Amino acid sequence: MIINVKQDVLEAYRKRAEEVRAELEARGVYMVNLIGSPGSGKTLLLERSMERMPKLERIAVIEGDVETQRDAERLERFGIQLVSVNTGGACHLEAQSVAGALERLELDALELIFIENVGNLICPVEFDLGEAARVAVSSVPEGEDKPTKYPALFREASAVVLNKVDLAPYVPFDPDYFRSEVRRLNGKAPLFELSASNGDGLDPWLAWIEERRERRRAAGPQNE
Ligand code: MG
Ligand code: ZN
Repeated sequence: MIINVKQDVLEAYRKRAEEVRAELEARGVYMVNLIGSPGSGKTLLLERSMERMPKLERIAVIEGDVETQRDAERLERFGIQLVSVNTGGACHLEAQSVAGALERLELDALELIFIENVGNLICPVEFDLGEAARVAVSSVPEGEDKPTKYPALFREASAVVLNKVDLAPYVPFDPDYFRSEVRRLNGKAPLFELSASNGDGLDPWLAWIEERRERRRAAGPQNE
């Protein structure tokens, strides 16, 4: 019985995610779901990206956190549309709470939405949020074995970011192993090796995002 209830709930989430995806696609809005450990640098990656991205007035961020609005506050200076979602203990976002956050955004003004998921490498992977792209964010101090130990995230990722490459001289990290494991699990996702801290390597990541934003914008909104 418990299993059936869980299946019903997951089915409802899945359906909501499909509705969210269809609505954003029709509106020409590209949504990116960032998944990574606490401390992998998701918020700093967003800050550095906002510093360089054009048309900030067309960007929104949905900040998922267990508690506090600290990450959202770090992004306030960009004047972007911002919604903070506190999960109240849950270690992931699901489509219902993202749909609720979208209702608080002025969607007509938007082309690009980033979701910073709750820091966690495991269960956010199971929850489709209606995103167009899912980005796995890993970082050098976490070690080269993250793809090997958390394969589902890397297998399903649209892109992989390896952050904090500036720390490679100071911590044990085998970049070739990391790269080969990402490739073994996922033959398609581009791997962006960068430092959100000093800005090295950001350009290819930004180009990837902008290309997708532009393609989506050009395709929508669809008039009936
Ligand atoms: Mg953060
Ligand atoms: Zn969870």
